[in-house]
Amino acid sequence: MTAIQTTPVLVVGGGPAGLAAAAELSLHGVGCIVIEPRPQVSHRRPRAKTTNVRTMEHMRRWGVADALRAAAPLPVAWSQRVTFCESLTGARITDFDGAFGLTTQRDDRFAEAGQQVPQPVVEEVLRSHLGRCPGAELRLGHRATSLTQDETGVTVAVTDAAGAGYQIRARYVLGCDGASGMTRDAAGARYVGRADPRPNFNMVFRAPELATHLGPSVQYWVVGAGPADISGLMGPLDLAGTWWAGVPGADPAYGEAHSAELINGLVGAPVSHELLATDPWTARMLVADTFADRRLFLVGESAHVNPPWGGHGFNTCVGDAVNIAWKIAAVSRGWATEALLASYEPERRGVVEQTVASAESNMRVLANVLPRDEAAIQRAKRSEFYTLGLVLGYSYAGSPVIQRGSVAAGAVADVSTFIPGTEPGSRLPHHWLPDGSSLYDHLGRGFTLLVPATAASDLPAFSGAVTPETAGKAPGHPGVAELAGRARRLGIPLTVTALPPDYPWPAEFLLVRPDQHIAWRAPDPAGLDIETAAGLRPVRAGV
Ligand SMILES: Cc1cc2nc3c(=O)[nH]c(=O)nc-3n(C[C@H](O)[C@H](O)[C@H](O)COP(=O)(O)OP(=O)(O)OC[C@H]3O[C@@H](n4cnc5c(N)ncnc54)[C@H](O)[C@@H]3O)c2cc1C
Repeated sequence: MTAIQTTPVLVVGGGPAGLAAAAELSLHGVGCIVIEPRPQVSHRRPRAKTTNVRTMEHMRRWGVADALRAAAPLPVAWSQRVTFCESLTGARITDFDGAFGLTTQRDDRFAEAGQQVPQPVVEEVLRSHLGRCPGAELRLGHRATSLTQDETGVTVAVTDAAGAGYQIRARYVLGCDGASGMTRDAAGARYVGRADPRPNFNMVFRAPELATHLGPSVQYWVVGAGPADISGLMGPLDLAGTWWAGVPGADPAYGEAHSAELINGLVGAPVSHELLATDPWTARMLVADTFADRRLFLVGESAHVNPPWGGHGFNTCVGDAVNIAWKIAAVSRGWATEALLASYEPERRGVVEQTVASAESNMRVLANVLPRDEAAIQRAKRSEFYTLGLVLGYSYAGSPVIQRGSVAAGAVADVSTFIPGTEPGSRLPHHWLPDGSSLYDHLGRGFTLLVPATAASDLPAFSGAVTPETAGKAPGHPGVAELAGRARRLGIPLTVTALPPDYPWPAEFLLVRPDQHIAWRAPDPAGLDIETAAGLRPVRAGV
């Protein structure tokens, strides 16, 4: 009988959520096995194209942002626009510039602009990154078939590429196996929500001769156009003539039989093309009733599904993955307790619910119901293309491991408006430094204590982070030395560094988590409760 294999963390499923979780675990030096049935990714079902600014910031943390941009077939400089038109050969109705966080300008609000890149390319870049991470093992062609938990771990039955069964024993399992995987059932969780009854029909096709007088756009929304009166959207997948198109309301049978008609209708004229693939889908608004069962955590679409309008799905999955993976890494490395893991669902559920609600709201006004009217389209679709409020403005306030008294996490008031701030729970407001580096590049992999410039005359201002030992020697900062000493005794990795003098929120000391969210802030480091932030104190009742 084959011996049971062991790993600290088993990641079931190597889609965007699973690959992101493995990348985050690797960043913190914690080993994992990822099992994924698909040997290769399929470029015929490109699905996500929008990698938002927050996901790009995580890519930067993992050191793969540049590789992803290099692999992306559409450079950001090529277009940052979404165009509404009567057809690709017809009249322009209106444009949304700077959509999806696409910009070539340095923007103080974020460390990375968004990137349009097909999901299979993202997956390939992450697969290859994991290949270079010593502790991460990606097992392609392998599939989980059952899972049992006991006091000390989880045993998962796996089938390998040849169909042979074996078992893996892990301390924790991340269920990243998507909407039709097995981990949601294994966790005893159920989706709650509904499916939209209307079908959608996506196509991928080659049409090297297809050109449009409308100029470069990442998406062309065709509003009831052409002799065939077909509405939908399409966009280039690369600059060599590969396109995707989606037609809301077209059912699979109709789409398969009339694909040429649909494509020609969107273009507004017959276009020579080769259909490469079709992908019928329906929109769903589903959130699982629980995200975790003891040592098993549901991550990404195994826990929630939203309509693709707004481009949030995979990005939200990456947000989940980062949240649970740094916490598991902290527990595995011995400087946090399982109370930290219990904060995963309270922190992510609100974000997920807001995202589902925003995507559902975008779905109410699709190309087939929009009027051909610039003002009406601008009004109706603005919140689909400008979403920094949702993407960067969510907060983990109210979490048991975030300072109390901060504004409770509620619905983002306006998904388009992002107002950065240092309220605990928020993502640390980003800032570019005089040497061209990002404030984020100076954060540690564990916690970071950010010292206000006025209190940091003895700390190197971004010549590199000082260690707790150096901070301890800095005269005039007894609070910093004391906090650094507490962290050292508890084994919590803490980087201490100074905020730049021109940081717009200069007044307080900030304790920042590995995921760049502010855990605590105080006028004196003595007020920063790093023990609770790491789940080392019992969780307070009533939080
Ligand atoms: C038309 C369309 C357009 C979209 N556009 C966008 C967009 O622009 N931006 C965006 O953010 N999102 C978009 N999405 C959503 C995005 O595709 C999903 O949110 C994303 O793929 C979910 O990632 P995941 O890793 O959670 O799940 P999945 O991608 O479903 O990955 C799950 C993985 O688990 C594996 N698996 C399944 N069962 C097992 C098992 N038993 N054992 C081991 N592995 C298993 C599967 O092979 C798969 O690789 C779009 C979706 C659609 C349909």
